[in-house]
Amino acid sequence: MQSFDVTKWVNPNILELAVYTSARDEYQGVPGVMLDANESPYENGVNRYPDPAACALKSRWAAFRNVSETQAILGNGSDEVLDMIFKCCQVKGGNIVVPAPSYGMYEVLAATYGMETRKVLLDEDFSLDAERLLAAVDEQTRLIILCSPNNPTGNVLASEAIDQVLRGFNGLVVVDEAYIDFAASPSWVSRLDNYPNLLVLQTCSKAWGMAGLRIGAAFSSPAVIDLLRKVKLPYNLNVCAQEKALSLWNPEEVAAFVTTNQTQREIMTEALVQLSFVQQVYPSDANFILVQCEDAKLLMTYLLEQQIVVRDRSSQSLCNNCLRITIGTPAENELLLKSLRAYEKSIVY
Ligand SMILES: *Cc1c(COP(=O)(O)O)cnc(C)c1O
Repeated sequence: MQSFDVTKWVNPNILELAVYTSARDEYQGVPGVMLDANESPYENGVNRYPDPAACALKSRWAAFRNVSETQAILGNGSDEVLDMIFKCCQVKGGNIVVPAPSYGMYEVLAATYGMETRKVLLDEDFSLDAERLLAAVDEQTRLIILCSPNNPTGNVLASEAIDQVLRGFNGLVVVDEAYIDFAASPSWVSRLDNYPNLLVLQTCSKAWGMAGLRIGAAFSSPAVIDLLRKVKLPYNLNVCAQEKALSLWNPEEVAAFVTTNQTQREIMTEALVQLSFVQQVYPSDANFILVQCEDAKLLMTYLLEQQIVVRDRSSQSLCNNCLRITIGTPAENELLLKSLRAYEKSIVY
């Protein structure tokens, strides 16, 4: 394995930064008379600044994933965590290497920070060819981002391929696990001790049912986490989000939801393949399915008329005429199928 040196990966400006501290970081114990932060002294539940590190939530999440708190940092959604990663690694003339199709935010962030996005096509069955991906890496590559299960294709990337990427690149490799709870395969957090250049991205937005709270996390080596802490805005998770997430934190409930979701995914897959205008339903390890049909645009317009909103992914590479459909409640899924069957009757070939 090539050696990973965080100081080479990171923008030199960031290395010199100190972690932002507030007077309260040095004050331990029961809250006393707090005259340090220019807040309003009158209690209304939100008059005080939130805990900058979101310690209570972070420690629950870290414990759930069986990692140390020093290996975790929370963000305002995993999109903000991604933004922190880019802030750390951005350099003029730098590039990122990502498979295509994948999550659009990677490219948006790279462009925002003036970095090139090098896209390497997945195979026809959406599997990752690690060798081809690594061939796109050069001296200027700051980051590789893999999404597994991948959005919009729904498949888990083979662990052998991810291993190969981690071993073959001496910069940071992000594995975006937004949909990991829906997958049968384990999270890459269990491999953090093997790979100092691995960063696993997770979110409360999907299986955990808290998209509106905006909570995401990075799990990585303490050295990488310490760098991210330098660029994290001090109060990125608000008081209400931290409290609400703690009150909703319930792994058993999530597991039950995931089971229902998987059953519904199977039911939907079986029903969808039977429709004459559906050409392919790709296997999914996530809470959505990618469906290739005769005329995605026409179908999308029809569904919108029925007040059903799905996502047209046709513009993505390898996704010609593909709609991405989220698994809803059993009742919602039934409504979708009813509409699709009516559509089938209405079209003339
Ligand atoms: C939904 C999604 C996220 C989650 O973003 P949040 O900012 O945490 O809501 C991250 N990555 C991928 C690939 C996603 O599909």
